[in-house]
Amino acid sequence: MFLKNYDANITLFEQNPHIGRKLRITGGGRMNVGNKIFSAKEFSSSSKNLLKRLFKNRHFQRRDEILSELGIHIVWEKNRAILRSGNAKKEVERLSCALHSQKNVILKLGKKIEGIEKKGNGFMIDGELFYAVILAQGGMYRMGDLKHQEEIYKLPISLGHTITLVSPSLGSLMFTDTELAKLSGLAFYGKLTDIEQKRSVTDDILITHIGLSGPAVLDFTAQKCSNNVELCFLPDTSEEDFRMEVNSERKGSMILRTFLKKFLPQRLVDEILRRSSISTDIQIANLQKKQLRALCTTLFHFRLPPLQENIYPSCWTTCGGVSLSEIRTATLESKVIPQLYFVGEILDVNGLCGGYNIGFASISARIVADAIINSAEM
Ligand SMILES: Cc1cc2nc3c(=O)[nH]c(=O)nc-3n(C[C@H](O)[C@H](O)[C@H](O)COP(=O)(O)OP(=O)(O)OC[C@H]3O[C@@H](n4cnc5c(N)ncnc54)[C@H](O)[C@@H]3O)c2cc1C
Repeated sequence: MFLKNYDANITLFEQNPHIGRKLRITGGGRMNVGNKIFSAKEFSSSSKNLLKRLFKNRHFQRRDEILSELGIHIVWEKNRAILRSGNAKKEVERLSCALHSQKNVILKLGKKIEGIEKKGNGFMIDGELFYAVILAQGGMYRMGDLKHQEEIYKLPISLGHTITLVSPSLGSLMFTDTELAKLSGLAFYGKLTDIEQKRSVTDDILITHIGLSGPAVLDFTAQKCSNNVELCFLPDTSEEDFRMEVNSERKGSMILRTFLKKFLPQRLVDEILRRSSISTDIQIANLQKKQLRALCTTLFHFRLPPLQENIYPSCWTTCGGVSLSEIRTATLESKVIPQLYFVGEILDVNGLCGGYNIGFASISARIVADAIINSAEM
């Protein structure tokens, strides 16, 4: 759509019968399209310096304008930009109609590109010669179409590009804990820490029947985790302050369970007490030092059981992709083959949860549109 005034035909190949099948289910059907905080820090890549260089492009500062150019209206929910309509399906239909009526676009829906052959100064695709190619085929997540990595990335690989190490990203933390699973549906504000990798994420966490989910977990799994992960149920309080607060109640008749209800949902409190081997009717006055120690360990250093490997497509995005070292960061053009461009999740650029990935896909598309217009004018 950024090329609507471009004086040449654009053929868009889409393997599905409709455009944006995955986009329809993004953001729980409401589509997060951007974020107020948007810098290289919220993204991961195996080439951190190149990522920083890429983010110097002026279009990263023009995020809202870029959405307007696409006719996307937003509302802000905290830092997140959400579709004003709150209806991803309707928005995809609108964008699809706009593409159908764009004069210079030839849509080839239900047409999967199986190969791209370099021919002279152009590219042969499905028996047609093209002057330039934009690869925007996403990552490993495929709607009902789970394939091996070599198959998913066969087009860039066949054109001489390297794929960095890829792993599923933005998913759940899956483990077996039958007692915790009984609390499925409970949400709380917590902090996850990967002890080995020395990184933490604090946000809302949801207990599910297979482990943990929610915004903190999605962001935490943006990078592959070690098996040394700890959960803190009280991220806004230090362990020392908590102990002091408990001890300040020793003179009264306060029940520990009632005291803890100030911080956490009742059922979670009961489970925390059970794990700390403390009875639910104990008064703080009668709490032994070693019981308080056990409680603090459960509250502040709850060790997660061994994590199951995250898999596609239970994760939203792919960490890794076409290496940035083979791409001109100013234009997203291949350094290996001129007039070959990359857009969106196919690249080794992976954002956190909260509009970062759709945001990046649209900004990168805008960068490539500029580059193509400029190269045609030269
Ligand atoms: C459930 C879910 C929810 C999400 N929610 C959000 C959110 O709210 N906000 C956010 O920022 N991100 C979200 N994401 C991530 C986001 O959807 C992707 O990062 C983003 O869509 C990437 O855009 P893209 O254009 O690079 O790739 P895609 O959107 O994956 O599009 C690639 C397209 O290329 C087509 N294709 C692939 N190979 C071929 C081929 N060989 N020939 C023809 N066509 C081909 C595919 O069918 C697909 O339609 C979510 C992801 C999932 C799975």
